[in-house]
Amino acid sequence: MNYEAGRFWEDDTVIMTKGIIRLKKREYDFPPYRPPSEADSLLLRVTRGCPWNNCTFCSMYKDIKFQRRPILEIKEDIDMAAELYSDYDLTVFIGDSNSILIKTENLVDILEYLHEKLPGISRVTSYARAKTIIKKDVEDLRRLREAGLHRLHVGLETGDEELLKEIKKGASPEEMAEAGEKAKKAGFELSLYIILGIGGNENWQQHAKGTARVLNLIDPHFIRARTFTPRPGSEINDRISQGTFQVATPEVVLKESRLLLEELQVHSHFLSDHISNYIPLDGKLPEDKGMMLQLIDHTLRSLAEDENMRGRLTRKRFLRHL
Ligand code: SF4
Repeated sequence: MNYEAGRFWEDDTVIMTKGIIRLKKREYDFPPYRPPSEADSLLLRVTRGCPWNNCTFCSMYKDIKFQRRPILEIKEDIDMAAELYSDYDLTVFIGDSNSILIKTENLVDILEYLHEKLPGISRVTSYARAKTIIKKDVEDLRRLREAGLHRLHVGLETGDEELLKEIKKGASPEEMAEAGEKAKKAGFELSLYIILGIGGNENWQQHAKGTARVLNLIDPHFIRARTFTPRPGSEINDRISQGTFQVATPEVVLKESRLLLEELQVHSHFLSDHISNYIPLDGKLPEDKGMMLQLIDHTLRSLAEDENMRGRLTRKRFLRHL
């Protein structure tokens, strides 16, 4: 068995790292990142890298120049997947960070080909930037939805104006709200990501309140929390080294989560389904709010009594490959 750049192969057969797909050795191109909820999805790379690549907490695509892949090449990948999966029920995730940026007719062409070759697909999702959603005509968004793109994963990170500027997200709270409303209007399921602790040890209240305000305006289908972990190569990591950014303690992150949940008035599924998180919250709002607040309170009490627990949670900030 050979290994190279995330792929294993024997003879002429490549075995994807998910372990369930066998493909010929022709270069099937893998998106390097996908949301945790897409762990079982077929991964289809439509673009490479991030066209923005500016967020101060992110180093995911720093070494990749943004590129649109040739449609022919993408269709060849679909053909390879179809050789194995045309009879399967499956979900698909489109990478990399903002593939809806490409011309609508091209993405429609890819989506239609994908559904034609793999008729068992029940869901196709993609990351998308709020600014790109705003720039797209709502009719174009509807065409993508009708061509079989079901869900958009959008990084809100925070709803606080000052923090959004500080992390160089490239969108204001109003633009985030506009993008979310527009995506929903076009018929997409909307999954918004927030980063607990992105305000550091000092700004947790403004982060929680500002984020709840924007989420309340959008009322997305899913709110997915992850906890800030410094990534080597990111701008915030440099600030931590210089002493100008203090990473939030576990207590602060938990208090921030509590305040956020208290302020939320949405009908969303709230999840902290990422390895970086301190506790696994999973509930429907508003009905499960009390249960999730109780879990946070219980963890806060345990933290006050148990030094080992503090150590376990604090060590999560050293996770590197998320
Ligand atoms: S967080 Fe998303 S938009 Fe920001 S630089 Fe990273 S991939 Fe690009």
